[in-house]
This record gives sequence, structure tokens and C-alpha cells, in this order.
Amino acid sequence: MGERNIKALQECGIRVTPQRAHVWGVLAESGGHFTAEEIWERAGALLPGLELSTVYRSLEALGDAGLVAESRLPEGPRVFEARSSSHPHLVCVVCGGISHPDADDIGRRLLETLNAASEGFEVSEMHVAGRGVCARCAADG
Ligand SMILES: [Zn+2]
Ligand SMILES: [Zn+2]
Repeated sequence: MGERNIKALQECGIRVTPQRAHVWGVLAESGGHFTAEEIWERAGALLPGLELSTVYRSLEALGDAGLVAESRLPEGPRVFEARSSSHPHLVCVVCGGISHPDADDIGRRLLETLNAASEGFEVSEMHVAGRGVCARCAADG
């Protein structure tokens, strides 16, 4: 857990606790997608006695602050990552790799389109995933 991580939390105006800082550190330093249990294992190694329920509460606070996105992937558990707002995922059926489409604003544009077509229904959250074969697996045949 670095100074940088603590600073990110302070800048978002949320109260910094060791639990939140470690949960955030796991996500921010790896840049990957993790289940709450995976975060718990990693953060717990640095913060003995950390409880899974505390990890969930920390994730919720970080999510409310716009630092962490929660996503549901096809056939998978909920995953968390250091990224804000709803955004689409690409899931490889061969290696299980999770990636993002190249256009950073695609999630926002999809949400806007969905809202525009929903006649007053306000969509606040969206879980979109494309299943297929990633470039590396396709190259491997
Ligand atoms: Zn993602
Ligand atoms: Zn793959």
C-alpha cells in the first residue's frame, strides 16, 4: 500500500481506513479484475484478521466514490476493478482472459443510447460482455 494509493482515496473525499486502502491497493496496483474473495486473499496477506464482510463494505464505499467498478460477467462471479462506471468487457472463451474494448467512452455511449431508447426508464447500471476468442488465442489456432 503506497502513499499514492492513500492519496487517491483522500482526493475522492472518502475516509481512509487501512482496510479500504489495502482493498484499493490490490485493485489499483494490478489493474485487473478480481472477485471479492481474491481481493480478500491478497489484502488479507498484508492485513491479518481482515474479514470478507469488511472487504465487501470497503468495495461498496470505493464504488460509491467512483473509484471501483463492479461487473457481472457471463457464467462468472461479480468482479471488481479500479475503474469507474459501467463498461463493457470482452471475455475469451479459450483462455478466460478479460479485457476491455479500445474505446474508453464506449460504456458511456452505450448507456446514453440505452437511456435514450428507454422512454423514461433511467438506466444507471449496465453489464455488457462480448464472448469470443482473444487475438492471442486466435493466433495460436
Ligand atoms: Zn473491466
Ligand atoms: Zn484467449
